[in-house]
Amino acid sequence: MRNFDLHSHSNVSDGTLTPTALAERAKSNGVDVWAMTDHDEIGGIAEARVAAKALDLPYVPGVEISITWSGQTVHIVGLQIDETNPILVNGLASVRGGREQRAREMSAQLEKIGIPGAFEGALKFVGNPDLISRTHFARYLIESGVCSNLQDAFTHYLGDGAQGYVPHRWATLQNAVEWIRAADGVAVIAHPGRYKFTEMQFDALFNEFKELGGAAIEVTTGSHTPDQYDYYAKVANTYGFLASRGSDFHGPGESRVELGALPPLPSGVRPVWHDWHI
Ligand code: AMP
Ligand code: MN
Ligand code: MN
Ligand code: MN
Repeated sequence: MRNFDLHSHSNVSDGTLTPTALAERAKSNGVDVWAMTDHDEIGGIAEARVAAKALDLPYVPGVEISITWSGQTVHIVGLQIDETNPILVNGLASVRGGREQRAREMSAQLEKIGIPGAFEGALKFVGNPDLISRTHFARYLIESGVCSNLQDAFTHYLGDGAQGYVPHRWATLQNAVEWIRAADGVAVIAHPGRYKFTEMQFDALFNEFKELGGAAIEVTTGSHTPDQYDYYAKVANTYGFLASRGSDFHGPGESRVELGALPPLPSGVRPVWHDWHI
């Protein structure tokens, strides 16, 4: 089976490598088909495409859209998108707006509990001023010795409900699926195993996504345990979803799974790429 890695981040969102360096790493790690899926941002796609072409690496334009569903943040990946589509471009611009204000509020909350300067500190790690993310705050908390690693930073300060957390007004599920479909893309629910929904909520999420024209879920991802690979393979087949595979790589030394290093999809699922001519 060819090595498809269909979920990764550059420093155009909250990864640490440039799109070019990410393409080079994908190639040298043996990825056969690569998608870069920056959060809420298509600004790195032109560079990624050029870099992949120079390396003779088949490339899939992608994005990972943040939405709010039933009170939680959920991520919807779009693959094979036309990144020039104005519905997609304008939609993404609308969710990006307000990230700076949110970051200032996060910084003010952290200051109240004795951690000053987090906004400026996080900014040092930001590659794209439109995309200040909690990941950048986490890097600052680690650099300044407040936290020992990313998990620690999210558990104690940045995760949903923690003291430094400020919710953002993300898109709706319907928005995200419509933007991706308007851009001729395939909509994929990212890392379903990460959400803290009840079984009934998951069922409602999958049904609603399906009705809107969502096509796939991530089965093998850096965010799932091996047990979850098998569990979400069954879920995919139950709901008639295609299965996707992607490391969610954010940078060397930071991500649990290296780019291109995941096991293959479990047998018995239909891969999201089954009908791609690539
Ligand atoms: P934001 O879009 O600013 O809300 O930040 C969300 C990002 O934080 C995600 O894209 C992940 O990269 C990162 N993240 C969220 N939860 C965790 C966690 N528990 N450990 C490490 N990174 C996380
Ligand atoms: Mn991220
Ligand atoms: Mn995600
Ligand atoms: Mn991601």
